[in-house]
Amino acid sequence: MQHTADIAVVGGGFGGALMAMVARRLGRSVALIERGSHPRFAIGESSTPLANLFLQQIAEKYDLPQLLPFRRWGDWQREHPEIGCGLKRGFSFFHHTLGHPFCDDEQRRNQLLVAASPRDEVADTHWFRADFDPHLANEAQRLGVDYFDQTELTIFDEQPDGVTLAGQRNGEPVTFRADFVIDATGPRGWLHRTLGLAKRELPLMPATSGLFAHFKNVGVWPSAGGAPYPVESAAVHHVFDGGWVWVLKFNNGITSAGVAATRARATELGLAEGEPGWQRLLAKLPSLAKQFAAAKPVGGFVFAPELSFCSGQITGARWAMLPSAAGFVDPLLSTGFPLTLLGIQRLAKLLGGGIAPADYERQTIAELEQVSRLVGALYASMGDFELFAALTQLYFAVVSFSETAHRLAKPELAGSFLLYAHPEFGPATREICASVARLAKREEVLAKVREVIEPFNVVGLADPAKRNWYPVAVDDLFASAAKLGSSEDAIREMLLREQLL
Ligand SMILES: Cc1cc2nc3c(=O)[nH]c(=O)nc-3n(C[C@H](O)[C@H](O)[C@H](O)COP(=O)(O)OP(=O)(O)OC[C@H]3O[C@@H](n4cnc5c(N)ncnc54)[C@H](O)[C@@H]3O)c2cc1C
Repeated sequence: MQHTADIAVVGGGFGGALMAMVARRLGRSVALIERGSHPRFAIGESSTPLANLFLQQIAEKYDLPQLLPFRRWGDWQREHPEIGCGLKRGFSFFHHTLGHPFCDDEQRRNQLLVAASPRDEVADTHWFRADFDPHLANEAQRLGVDYFDQTELTIFDEQPDGVTLAGQRNGEPVTFRADFVIDATGPRGWLHRTLGLAKRELPLMPATSGLFAHFKNVGVWPSAGGAPYPVESAAVHHVFDGGWVWVLKFNNGITSAGVAATRARATELGLAEGEPGWQRLLAKLPSLAKQFAAAKPVGGFVFAPELSFCSGQITGARWAMLPSAAGFVDPLLSTGFPLTLLGIQRLAKLLGGGIAPADYERQTIAELEQVSRLVGALYASMGDFELFAALTQLYFAVVSFSETAHRLAKPELAGSFLLYAHPEFGPATREICASVARLAKREEVLAKVREVIEPFNVVGLADPAKRNWYPVAVDDLFASAAKLGSSEDAIREMLLREQLL
């Protein structure tokens, strides 16, 4: 079979399906080519306020209103109760000493709760990808995208007038002819391997491995009275020296859980063995072991020997990788979705000639590298929770600042992801992260973080009086109006419009 399309998108996960939908809305004919078939397990589940904002922007700019319910819990529950998802009110962190039960003190020195939304209705979500991805693939087809699953490509032949892709579909030869190819096959994906591209080192990031699964019968992690939100309605992070565990609860009885750890810690725990490695980890985290006492894995464990990755080249004359194919740092801080969604917006511009491939490549790499520095510094501080919690504020300050700036229609205030290109914040953050990785004086680092986030801290972060609990506090936002070049009235109006008040 031979097929022709303006754009071939390889990889039918949510990123590829969304990209295909946007390309259709730009008037292109699109072939979406997937190796496997839906429904299937996929990892990468927890969304964030910025990711949801970018999803909303895509929906509005490319006339895709069918995406809007997925930007928040309330609409999702009303309009698509059949698509599994989890309620995410914030980011919960608990610090453990290996071999000891979790314990804390009055100052809450071993926990950090950062709310992302004031109530369930407007909260973020975890996407149950086995439901979510097929829904988007179906939506893409409804828009006229030609979808080919069970298709294993083996040939990429780039000519001056187009690209030929060839392989097998259900055992039969198949050929696609396209003007442009977008690789949405995830890290170490199809084009990286087929073109034999080199890898790029990610700055400050240690080598890490991951082990993860879906579970049934996961118990409850206790919630303290007065917490800014029920602590399990969140992305829950259990941090220990050399790694961290995520626990994400869905509304269908399934819990996603896994561990990301430095190579040394992963080897010591024998994570490569799968379930026995997971059990060895739980034995060192007795409080978490209680929560998982009756848990049963559904569908088996996945071991990822090398989590972080960056391709040495991510665009060519007639091809480009989505950011999710170009590279990946770590699940920590849930940066995969926002980067993918930003990349889709940029690739849409690239298809229209609005930005050059070289600019797409430069921005995508710069963002991955900024994430890598920050996450690398967080890994270096996992044994020192005060430092770890302080460094997370570099993330929370700029993402809340960026979200608010966008919602106030002032995108120029937040022109780059994590403000990596901001003339002061960008270099200052890089310096802080480098000094943490060098194990430089921690007191200086703590003071420097407070100083650097101050112009962007619009939600009252880094306040010792809050003892590591940060609810959504509109008073802090009003008091910070000047930092956003705005007024209390304009902020109130925006919050009312977005139903955030
Ligand atoms: C352990 C882990 C946890 C993560 N957690 C988070 C998180 O909580 N939040 C977050 O924002 N991000 C997270 N991420 C990142 C997240 O997974 C990605 O951003 C997201 O999956 C990107 O979606 P995608 O559709 O572009 O790619 P993928 O989800 O990787 O989908 C790729 C698709 O391409 C198909 N494919 C692969 N090879 C081929 C081929 N040769 N030909 C055709 N099709 C092919 C696959 O079958 C799949 O359907 C995590 C990543 C990992 C590894």
